[in-house]
Amino acid sequence: MHALDEAGYSHYNRQYKQRLPTILSLSAIDWAVCRIKPLILPRKKKTKEAFMYNIDTPTLTTLKNKNIKAIFFDMDGILFDSMPYHAEAWHKALLHFGLEFSPYEAYLHEGRTADSTIDAIYNRLYGHDADRTTKDEIYALKSSIFGGYPAPKPIEGIAEVLQWVKEQNIHLLVVTGSAQVSLFEKLQEYFPAIFERNHIVSAFEVKHGKPHPEPYLTALKIAGVDAEEALVIENAPLGIRSGRAAGIFTIGINTGILTRDDLKEAGANLVLDNMQQFRELLKDLNFVHR
Ligand code: CA
Repeated sequence: MHALDEAGYSHYNRQYKQRLPTILSLSAIDWAVCRIKPLILPRKKKTKEAFMYNIDTPTLTTLKNKNIKAIFFDMDGILFDSMPYHAEAWHKALLHFGLEFSPYEAYLHEGRTADSTIDAIYNRLYGHDADRTTKDEIYALKSSIFGGYPAPKPIEGIAEVLQWVKEQNIHLLVVTGSAQVSLFEKLQEYFPAIFERNHIVSAFEVKHGKPHPEPYLTALKIAGVDAEEALVIENAPLGIRSGRAAGIFTIGINTGILTRDDLKEAGANLVLDNMQQFRELLKDLNFVHR
């Protein structure tokens, strides 16, 4: 089970499966009750869908009762399969500067701005932020390594999801920590006529990046909807924390190397294993035209 502590560092806790009570640890009567009760009382039934998505039934009911007016999509790891490249580029660039940072850690920190990522590593190792020049040098190397990789492909199934959501005529926003210029043009190239130019929240629109709620609060403002009328779609712990901090029902789709628990512990209301599961789930939800 992996999680971020207050300072944003990963740590690892091992949980042991609850052992079945044995006659040695409980009285004979308790033991008999534990063993016989499941045979007599029927187990709580999960609905077919809840079972399929590994969702508890109350969560699914909450989701199905929503009147959804907007969906906010994160970009890296949700629209594009770019995270393996970002993670490797961070790992290699930092190693060049003698700083240890695994690709797994890169996934845990995903969504932070470049400065904040470098500061987090510096604080872990040296107890203080990195200076401006160091940050610029590391980020320049990371960008150069990343630029050498092929252009990331869209996440499998995302084009169908976006098309389907677009046809519901609701607000569809991209909420990303990315500071890429011509982001709208890139989105147009891969997903033509899906997004609107003023429906993008990037690093340029906010002062505080994820996990601060500002990016998703800004998205709510742009769409003109309340938190309970929106959904956030994220793949990473910090993005999930941002969505939840903005008070929005947040779905974690685990498209990378993290565990379901990493996303659950970050506060995801629901965790799915891939985009196809989200595509199926969409059919059961209520949308309100804009
Ligand atoms: Ca992401």
